[in-house]
Amino acid sequence: MALREIVTSPNPVLRRKARPVKTFDGKLQTLIDDMIETMRVAPGVGLAAPQVNISEQVIVVEYGDDEDEEVPPKLYVMVNPKITRFDTETELGVEGCLSIPGLVGEVERSLAVTVKGQNRHGQPMTVKAKGWLARIFQHEVDHLEGVLFTDRATSVWKPEAPVEDLA
Ligand code: ZN
Repeated sequence: MALREIVTSPNPVLRRKARPVKTFDGKLQTLIDDMIETMRVAPGVGLAAPQVNISEQVIVVEYGDDEDEEVPPKLYVMVNPKITRFDTETELGVEGCLSIPGLVGEVERSLAVTVKGQNRHGQPMTVKAKGWLARIFQHEVDHLEGVLFTDRATSVWKPEAPVEDLA
């Protein structure tokens, strides 16, 4: 595994629509392993392939519920993810992005989503996410569409303290 450089805005790769993955080969496995390591070292709770300069539909998410330290963070690897259901109920939350250092914003997101895609070997998978996990999935799938949180934020500001849970 190797660390990849996280590209930052305004790198145009962040604005491109990522290509669907068709071949689940060794190169994809290396990309996924590198993305997991890069996310953990950053540290972040999610990473999309365009953030490491690869315009392909791959995301990794690793998030543990802060309120329950007994439950270890769960790692999700998803290829060609699509959000097939957005809960109509939404909430505002403060988000930051590894590709937009030094800024956070308040973003309205669905409280729950269903995400369908494939695992790293091409088998179909579905994730039903709620709360912060749902927010992270929405943030990462946006990256594959070339959308950044600042596009959706109702307000954006420079935080005084370093921000956790970057995605
Ligand atoms: Zn991001």
